[in-house]
Amino acid sequence: MSTCKKTSSLDALIVGAGFGGIYMLYKLRSIGLSAKIIDVASGVGGTWFWNRYPGARCDVESMFYSYSFDKGLEQEWEWTERYPAQPEILKYINHVADRFDLWPDILLKTRVISAVYCETDATWLIATDGDGDFSARFCIMATGCLSAANTPDFAGLKNFDGRVFHTGKWPHSEVDFSGHHVGVIGTGSSGVQIIPEIAKQAAHLTVFQRTPSYVAEAFNRPLDEAGQMETKANYAEIRAAAKKTFGGFTVVANEQSAMSVSEEECRNILEEGWKAGGNSLMTSFIDIADNENSNVRAQEFVRNKIRQAVPNAETAEKLSPKHLIGCKRLCLGTNYYETYNRENVTLVSLGDKGVEKFTATGLVTEGYEIEIDDLVMATGFDAMTGALSRIPIYGRDNISLNKAWEAGPRTYLGLMTHGFPNFFTITGPGSPSVLSNMLPTIEQHVEWIAECIDYLGKQKIMEIEAGLQAQDDWVAHGNEVASKTLRYSCSSWYLGANVPGKPRIFMPYIGGMPAYREKCAAVVAAGYEGFYLNG
Ligand code: FAD
Ligand code: NAP
Repeated sequence: MSTCKKTSSLDALIVGAGFGGIYMLYKLRSIGLSAKIIDVASGVGGTWFWNRYPGARCDVESMFYSYSFDKGLEQEWEWTERYPAQPEILKYINHVADRFDLWPDILLKTRVISAVYCETDATWLIATDGDGDFSARFCIMATGCLSAANTPDFAGLKNFDGRVFHTGKWPHSEVDFSGHHVGVIGTGSSGVQIIPEIAKQAAHLTVFQRTPSYVAEAFNRPLDEAGQMETKANYAEIRAAAKKTFGGFTVVANEQSAMSVSEEECRNILEEGWKAGGNSLMTSFIDIADNENSNVRAQEFVRNKIRQAVPNAETAEKLSPKHLIGCKRLCLGTNYYETYNRENVTLVSLGDKGVEKFTATGLVTEGYEIEIDDLVMATGFDAMTGALSRIPIYGRDNISLNKAWEAGPRTYLGLMTHGFPNFFTITGPGSPSVLSNMLPTIEQHVEWIAECIDYLGKQKIMEIEAGLQAQDDWVAHGNEVASKTLRYSCSSWYLGANVPGKPRIFMPYIGGMPAYREKCAAVVAAGYEGFYLNG
């Protein structure tokens, strides 16, 4: 596979211009290295470039879904809403690229089509579908955990005459649904956000639901200046405190068990969590995600909310999830359940056969055809490994990453994989990534990688590679921690269950950010313990 031919040469090539890639470029430049980002998109922003569907919004508070690495940026940028909408986040990341003059080193509209390690001179050869190929000592994958859209292979879809959209690849021009009969497949976080928006515009909306979701009301609101100034004055302390929480969020969980209080008191405390908005429901008690009985109390609380929001008992029942709450990701919505009270919205529960087939004019389920003009797939992503598995990546001895990960991803700390020297993954499988607030998590990975590369340069070390034993131990530890949690028990994308044929492995590290940060720091302090450092 490897030809080792010389091409345009860099210290580091970064794939992906989302929050991970942008900060990585800034950081490498700041230590005097030559680096470039390549992204297939025509702009920066990653997730927030692609997911421009109506209603797309962050569910971490804007002031904390933001970089902390530059005090000027932190103090000067002004957010307008508690939970920022996609256009505002995209504006922010473009501002970051402007502010730090990153554009000259960002190559857009270019797909990386292979990455091959050349052992003879310890460099990565990175081929693109554009004009140039590159060689770089370090290849850094900032390709995202949720960037490869999952488009199920529905029978007959190619015969469907209407328009077809995927939330994760939304068009740049405005999509007008006025007067149309629209079908949405998928009721995860993306579906929950887009459904109320389409309902406001379409003549009729049919939602095809396979599994109902628990949806907490976001209680989004404009940010007032005083509140924003107060946060800015205390940014360092608040961010430091957030780093001590499991997911790097600013809300600290109530230390009580939901089972340690009476049912009435439990409901009252859950109500407070609900009213605080967003993910606060899950931190109302310390053990909602870990103790099945506590979890049942929280489940019943949300099912009651659904019954209150939706007077039609049959619809409310269809919308009521039966699985553990928090097992799949909790969704945040705005008037999601109330949307089903509208005359122009129909909820169809997909039976065991799911979507049977598409026809020219609609889709068939349970033997009936439902006519639609437009289809919106809110069917999610080939998460965590999807973007990487789509790139042929060859490491030492021409092993392919897909081969190395055929039974599920194997990494040391989610940062490196044995057999792939000088090849890093930002928020890779085996790191807390999607179980946390991704911004501080990305910053932690970027800073670890930059410090490592700087160290190698200063020590004149050519290669770093995850040691096999350290990797095996980390994977075993990750599996052990995951197997003890309730999250392990349901068919979620965390386990790869949404993509047919994907190995079922709990992919993110579920030991929490504080323990993970500590481990990463300890490895460095011990001279990159568990890594092979070669000449
Ligand atoms: P991404 O933003 O996914 O960027 C990866 C980039 O790599 C993409 O631009 C892609 O085009 C590029 N790429 C991939 N393969 C190639 C290739 N072969 N060649 C060239 N380029 C390539 N996280 C939170 O913490 N809070 C939230 O509220 C939240 N909301 C989300 C909402 C949505 C709709 C989605 C999909 C995700 C959300 N996330 C959220 C997770 C989000 O993905 C991260 O917060 C973060 O934006 C990821 O940044 P990234 O740079 O790691 O990856
Ligand atoms: P998702 O959570 O995987 O949801 C996909 C939906 O499509 C599910 O309802 C799923 O049903 C359904 N589905 C998939 N394949 C199907 C098929 N063949 N037939 C019928 N239904 C099918 O994807 P997502 O909603 O895009 O969210 C993915 C992640 O992105 C989130 O968990 C979150 O991390 C992030 N996100 C965050 C926000 C936010 O609020 N900030 C918004 C969007 C996305 P099943 O459940 O039965 O599989």
